[in-house]
Amino acid sequence: MMDAIQILRQLKEKGIRFTPQRQAILEFLLSTDTHPTAEEIYHHVKQRFTGMSLGTIYNTVKMLKEHGYIMELSYGEMSSRFDGNPENHYHIACQKCGRVFDYNRSFPDLEQEMESHQGFQVQGYRLEFFGLCSACLQAVDTVKTAEAEAE
Ligand SMILES: [Zn+2]
Ligand SMILES: [Zn+2]
Repeated sequence: MMDAIQILRQLKEKGIRFTPQRQAILEFLLSTDTHPTAEEIYHHVKQRFTGMSLGTIYNTVKMLKEHGYIMELSYGEMSSRFDGNPENHYHIACQKCGRVFDYNRSFPDLEQEMESHQGFQVQGYRLEFFGLCSACLQAVDTVKTAEAEAE
């Protein structure tokens, strides 16, 4: 996998300016699997670049996404999350705390099936399972137990 500097050098050849801010944003995205929102990236990178605006984050993630180096997971009215891994992989999302986790497994048989039965060429997919993460599930159990004890 390429690191932030290699990616930014490739982009520089396409005429996109290599800035330390962009490097910091990309380094953060490549180093985490928490799928941060633009606001979360901002809070992280701002520690090093105090003058940085949220607009810089939005512009940078948009540019990185357009060039295929990162992936955007959009959630309707909720903030999009950004993934430093643009390869196909799927996600499990907690509906309570909003955390998104990677689940790495591919579907070669499913893709093959679509291609041979439907003549459809799969170029990518987004598959996400919604539910409750273990931490939230535990919190629900605790509430239930407390309610049961109160009765
Ligand atoms: Zn949760
Ligand atoms: Zn992911």
